[in-house]
Amino acid sequence: MIVAVKDVICMKGKRITCGSRILEHYVSPYDATVIQRLEAADAIIIGKTNMDEFAMGSSNENSAFGVVRNPVDESRVPGGSSGGSAAAVAAGCATTTLGSETGGSIRQPAALCGVIGLKPTYGRVSRYGLVAFASSFDQIGPFGQSVYDVASVLQVIAGHDPCDSTSADLPVSDYPSLLTGDVKGLRVGLPKEYFTKALDREIAGSIMKLVDRLKQAGAVVKEVSLPHAEYTIATYYILTTAEASSNLARYDGARYGRRAQDAGDLMDMYVKSRSEGFGEEVKRRIMLGTYVLSAGYYDAYYRKGQKVRRLIKEDFDNAFRAVDCLITPTTPSTAFRIGEKVDDPLQMYLSDVYTVSANLAGIPGISIPCGKDKKGLPIGLQILGRQFDEEMILRVADFLERE
Ligand code: GLN
Repeated sequence: MIVAVKDVICMKGKRITCGSRILEHYVSPYDATVIQRLEAADAIIIGKTNMDEFAMGSSNENSAFGVVRNPVDESRVPGGSSGGSAAAVAAGCATTTLGSETGGSIRQPAALCGVIGLKPTYGRVSRYGLVAFASSFDQIGPFGQSVYDVASVLQVIAGHDPCDSTSADLPVSDYPSLLTGDVKGLRVGLPKEYFTKALDREIAGSIMKLVDRLKQAGAVVKEVSLPHAEYTIATYYILTTAEASSNLARYDGARYGRRAQDAGDLMDMYVKSRSEGFGEEVKRRIMLGTYVLSAGYYDAYYRKGQKVRRLIKEDFDNAFRAVDCLITPTTPSTAFRIGEKVDDPLQMYLSDVYTVSANLAGIPGISIPCGKDKKGLPIGLQILGRQFDEEMILRVADFLERE
C-alpha cells in the first residue's frame, strides 16, 4: 500500500499545516492512530496532501498554500476539503490516500475526480491525531482507485482505540474478502427528496443506468422518503460552525502555531495572531459559530439545530427499516471551474447538499465513479448504509464497479 495523507492527520516529527498559515511551522509531537496502524501493516507513507484550511471548503481553494487542480481538467477544482488526497489518487501519485470528512470532504472530491472515497460510520475509525473541525462529525476515511483498495485500507485503520473515547468497541470485518459481487435480494432505496426535477439530467441518467443493473442482478429497488432532507445544509452549517468555533479557540498564538510579532498586550497578541493566521473562510465559520452559540441565540439556532439533527437521523433509521442501503447522487454538479464559486459562500455550501446528511446521522457512505458528463467530467454515485454496516455499502460498490 502506497499511501499519502491529508495534512490534517498527525505524523510524528513531520509538519502538519491543516492548510493554514497559523500552523505553517507546527510539527506533530506524535503519530495519529491511523498512521500507527498503517505503518504496522507495512504501508509506505509517501507524503502529505493539500487541503482546504482546517477542512473547511468544497473546492480546495481555501488552502493557504495554493489551490489544487483537478487532474481530469486542470481548469477545474478537485472538490474539497480533501482535494489533494482525491487528486493524488486520480493522478496516480498514490494507490490510496487518507482524507477526512465532516460533511462530504471525502465523497465530494472523490466524485469530482473520478475515484472512490469512503466515509466510515462515526466512531468506526479513531480520531486520535486528527485535528478537530467539528468533533461530533469528523471521521477519517480512504480514497482509492478500486473498491478493493478502500476496503483494504479501512480494514487496517478501523477499530476501537483507547485514545479516542468515541471510537466504537465493535468487531471489524475482513472487508476485502466480503466483496463477492452478490446483490441478489438486496433492498435498495432511492430517496425521493434527492431525485427531484432540480437534479441535473445527465447525473440522474448515469445513476439510473447503474440502478437498473442492480435490478437485473436481483436487487429490489424502491422509493423511500427522508422528509427532513431540506434542512440538512442549514443544520450542518449551524452545528459544525459552533463546534469549530470552540475547537479553533486553541490557536491563540500561545499554545499552538503562529504568534504575531508586533503585538502589544495579551489581547492584542490574540487578535493579531488569529487575524494574520486564519483565512477568510475559517474566520467566517468562527463568527457564525460564536453567533449561534451566543447567549441570546443559543436556543434559536444551536439547540434547534441539535433537535433537527435528531430528526434527520430518525429519517435514516426509518428508511433503513425498509431497505438495506440508499443510492443517491454524490454531488449536484460535476467539477466546477476554479474561481467559479469563491465569491458566493452559499453556492459553495450547496455543493454539499447530498453528502452532509450522512455526517449529521453518523452513517457510512461511499462515492464511486459512475460515468462522465458531456464535458468528460466524472459523475459520482453515492451509497449510504446503516451505522457500522460498511460491509453492505462496499458490497454494493464492488458490484457496481464490476458493472
Ligand atoms: N464542504 C464542507 C464544509 O466546508 C465539508 C467539509 C468537510 O467535510 N470537512 O464544511
